[in-house]
Amino acid sequence: MTLASVLESASTAPLSSGIEERPLLPSSDEGRSDRHCRLGVDLNQYPAVIQRQAFPQIISKRNRGLGWPIARALTASTLGQVPNPVMLTHIVTTRCNYLCSFCSFADTLNAKTDDLTVDEIERVYATMGNNLNTIVYSGGETTLNRQLPEIIESAYRNTPVKSVYIISNAWKPNHLVEITHQVLQRCPGLHLTWSLSIEGPRSHNNTERRTHAEGWDAWQNTIDTMEALKAIRQRFGYDQLNVQLCTVCTPDNHHLLPEWYRTVRDDLQPDKWNLNLMRKSVQMGEHAMKSFEERRQSGALEPFEATYLAITERVRHDVVSGRLKFLYNTDFPLDGALKSAVDLLSQEANRNTVMQAKQSFGCKAGSMGAYLSSTGLVSGCEEFAHNPIANKAFGNVRDVDYDFQALWRSPEASAIRCKVGKSSECNGCTLESQRNYPAILVSPQSLVQAAVLGTQLLVKTPTP
Ligand code: SF4
Repeated sequence: MTLASVLESASTAPLSSGIEERPLLPSSDEGRSDRHCRLGVDLNQYPAVIQRQAFPQIISKRNRGLGWPIARALTASTLGQVPNPVMLTHIVTTRCNYLCSFCSFADTLNAKTDDLTVDEIERVYATMGNNLNTIVYSGGETTLNRQLPEIIESAYRNTPVKSVYIISNAWKPNHLVEITHQVLQRCPGLHLTWSLSIEGPRSHNNTERRTHAEGWDAWQNTIDTMEALKAIRQRFGYDQLNVQLCTVCTPDNHHLLPEWYRTVRDDLQPDKWNLNLMRKSVQMGEHAMKSFEERRQSGALEPFEATYLAITERVRHDVVSGRLKFLYNTDFPLDGALKSAVDLLSQEANRNTVMQAKQSFGCKAGSMGAYLSSTGLVSGCEEFAHNPIANKAFGNVRDVDYDFQALWRSPEASAIRCKVGKSSECNGCTLESQRNYPAILVSPQSLVQAAVLGTQLLVKTPTP
């Protein structure tokens, strides 16, 4: 398959919903909207959509703007010092109730581990410095850590974090809604984004998820969660809540993705849709394909890589022309537009990686970006922290009395920092939150691009 043929198919295939057949319910059914009937969504089964438990607000006077952290980080870099991280990827558990083949933790998923407790995490956050603006919570399934809301609250109390992303398979819609009520009432200054996983049409998604539960409809749970979160945003005035759908482009689903993209854009309409490329380190797990390096040397794209290029190009075109909603809700609209623009630039960086084109920034993992594993390993990124052959963790917070700075400024960290962007893990790396975002945020060239693109988005984004 050539890139041209994928582009052709993405742009000319007939438009249809892509949602598998379900009987249409009458629009009057239990007072549900036509849209919810069509998507099979019944929010009446989720009590937290209607009623919420009240939580007292955490009083915090921290300045949570991004301007000062970027200025401080750039100043430190200019002076040859190590900045405190602006962004953190925090794995809160490696347990999961699904068993997806493309998961980056597939090899160690559900291995018995000793996850950090909230008290331990509190002590780590308290020593992370005054630059932390964005945290991505990932796993495993994040919501299996029953203390996830308290972990986020700890970040809110101990750091100037503004943006929190939670990646989830959305296995239990009411539980995710309850977490949202707690976090947004306790931490009113936060901007919260749920990133919900969905891999394509219902039958494909539910097969890929491997839930091992008879009749478990993972697809419907994700759609229900998205609609439930949109409903509570409106009902309870959570103006800084966002819900995005995330699809991983893999050898198993790439042929479905042109149609799936149209379904997302025209029918499902999340606040944003992310198409992620299956990690390089996962690609050899179940698929007999050449290594990334061999593929690039031969100049041949795997079909899933060609699809990624075609669809992300289409996404950018549709976003800029106002056909696809791709905008975060934030207290200041320009903030949301800038965040969306950064996402598009990150996608552009991954496209460059696949095509081996020149990047406009170098990786900043280990300086602007930090990684904390569920058991306390600190490093620049997960590939470094968990490399089984040449491990590049700075150390474990449990060994330094939970003093993050003791690891961040250690001789070991300095030695590993020299390998960032130059190690074998780095060739073909497409880690959005660990390679791309921290680098984009402190690259003057990328920030100018984001400002221009963000302004375009503000003008063009369609009203949902
Ligand atoms: S390029 Fe990727 S693997 Fe290399 S240090 Fe950066 S985030 Fe880690």
